[in-house]
Amino acid sequence: MRIFDPHIHMTSRTTDDYEAMYAAGVRALVEPAFWLGQPRSSVDSFVDYFDALVGWERFRAAQFGIAHHCTIALNPKEANDPRCLPVLDLLPRYLAKDGVVAVGEIGFDSMTREEEKAFARQLELAREFALPALVHTPHRDKLAGTRRTLDLVEAAGVDPGMVVVDHLNEVTVDVVEEAGAWMGFSIYPDTKMSPARMVAILRARVESGRGLGRVLVNSAADWGRSDPLSTRRTGEAMLAAGFTEDDVERVLWHNPIEFFGQSGRLLLDVPETDSAATFAGNSLLRGER
Ligand SMILES: [Zn+2]
Repeated sequence: MRIFDPHIHMTSRTTDDYEAMYAAGVRALVEPAFWLGQPRSSVDSFVDYFDALVGWERFRAAQFGIAHHCTIALNPKEANDPRCLPVLDLLPRYLAKDGVVAVGEIGFDSMTREEEKAFARQLELAREFALPALVHTPHRDKLAGTRRTLDLVEAAGVDPGMVVVDHLNEVTVDVVEEAGAWMGFSIYPDTKMSPARMVAILRARVESGRGLGRVLVNSAADWGRSDPLSTRRTGEAMLAAGFTEDDVERVLWHNPIEFFGQSGRLLLDVPETDSAATFAGNSLLRGER
């Protein structure tokens, strides 16, 4: 099984996770910029984080045979913190870099005016840089948040085919389908979407003739309770439910490539490295070399 995880925060994960992901078939991923679990106190904190996403973390992933890409943005949560807003002026520098395949995560967290302003500004940037946008939907009041999200995409003049609306469920999937945007599903161990519910959604799509296009399945694994192998578990649940290997590869590999390929910036050939390779003078080795 060949897997491209289109949303996973590897900065928060361990080398054991990288090894297990490779063994499970993960060969490529996208790491969206997001918050740290506690507030950033200045814009400089974003600079170091973004530099690590395009530098150190890509190097680390390559050591495990996995192609690493990222998306860059001011995340919805920190859009409410005036200390973070100046980062909006820094984004263009990063949105021009190799391996930056979208603007994201943007969108709503608590649906405040501040979030809406940052969201609209970053949709403009996506259009300016001809990049896809990865949009987070709020955990509460999901349907209203998803509708408002799609209104803003339309108002910004962004092609819905360049937008993935993420963290969807049975209630929010249809409005995104109708808008022509991509549908993202985060498969979590306990909450939100499970592999079984995901399979039921896929089956309903196939039975109604809508097919397996425009669907992205991700683990959204981060520093919270989450599972970096939930993409693989979803693939297995699809096979157990009678989907073919080709169907699984379509959803877990070709769809993310089709969506993020719109950036023209995918880096799927992982450079061969040995374990003593270094980035800025540092390797992953500990102790004796
Ligand atoms: Zn995320």
